[in-house]
Amino acid sequence: MTNFVDDLAAALSGAKHAVVLTGAGISTESGIPDFRSPGGTWDKFDPMEVASLDVFIREPERFWAFHRPRFDMVASVAPNAAHAAVAELQRRGLVKALITQNIDGLHRRAGSPDVIEIHGSLSSGRCLRCDFRLSTDELLARADAADDGVPRCECGFQLKSNVVSFGEMLPGEELDRAFEHAGLADVMLVIGSSLLVAPVSNLPGFVLANSGTLAILTEGETPYDSRAKIRLHTKAAETLPQVLAALDTLDQTD
Ligand code: NAD
Repeated sequence: MTNFVDDLAAALSGAKHAVVLTGAGISTESGIPDFRSPGGTWDKFDPMEVASLDVFIREPERFWAFHRPRFDMVASVAPNAAHAAVAELQRRGLVKALITQNIDGLHRRAGSPDVIEIHGSLSSGRCLRCDFRLSTDELLARADAADDGVPRCECGFQLKSNVVSFGEMLPGEELDRAFEHAGLADVMLVIGSSLLVAPVSNLPGFVLANSGTLAILTEGETPYDSRAKIRLHTKAAETLPQVLAALDTLDQTD
C-alpha cells in the first residue's frame, strides 16, 4: 500500500522550491471553525450579509457586530502541531514560501519566519477613506469605547481591520509574491483548503504546469484531487508531525 506520509517526506527532502499553501482546515484543530465543513462559519452566516465591503460601508454596526468577537476568539486559541510543523519545515530550509488564506495569525505565533497572508490579517487596521493606519489594540479600544461598537477615524469614517472582505481587492504585494513562488514551485503542499476560492485556487495549477508534485493534505474534496500525486485525507495536526518523523528517518539513512 502507498505510504503517502513517506512520499511527502521524500518529495519535500528532494525539492528545490517547495511551497506550502494553507487554508482554514489547518486551524480547526486549534478551535477555529473553517468555512465550508458542516458546522463551519458559513453554515451560520451568509457572508454577504456580514463580511462584505458593501455591508462595511453601508451598515458598519452590523459588520462590526460580526467582526468584533472574532478578535477575541482568535486571541483565545493557540497554534497547533500542524502550524508548528510548517514552521519547522521553513526553519530547516525545506519550505521556501508559506502562503496562507487564513487571517488568524497562528502561523506567525507558531514561529513561521515569513508568512504571505493573501487575505490580510487581524493584526492591524486602517481607514479606507484617508489611509490612516493603526494597531489592533488601538482599533479594538476605539470599537469598545464607541456606543455603536464601530471604531472611527479622526476623519470621521469607520475603521476596518486589514482582513480582506468580500468585494475588496487582495493586497497586491502579497498576491505578487504568492504567484512568484507558485511559478517557481517544484513541490506544493496544500494543507486544509477546499481550493474553491480564487485566485488562490489557481496556484496549484502552476506546480502542475512545472511538472512538479502536488500534495494535498485536506480532509474534504478539492477540484485538484485527481491530479495530486500525494493525497492525504487525514487531520493536519496528526499527519504533519509524522512527516517530520519520516524526514528524520530519511536523514539518518542518508
Ligand atoms: P474551507 O473551509 O473552504 O476548506 C477547509 C478544508 O479543510 C475542508 O476541505 C475541510 O474538510 C478541511 N479540514 C478541516 N479540518 C481539517 C484538518 N484538521 N486537517 C485537514 N483538513 C481539514 O477553507 P479555505 O479553503 O481556507 O477557504 C477559504 C476561506 O476561508 C478563506 O477566505 C479564508 O480566509 C477563510 N477562513 C479563514 C479562517 C482562519 O483564518 N482560520 C477560518 C475560516 C475561514
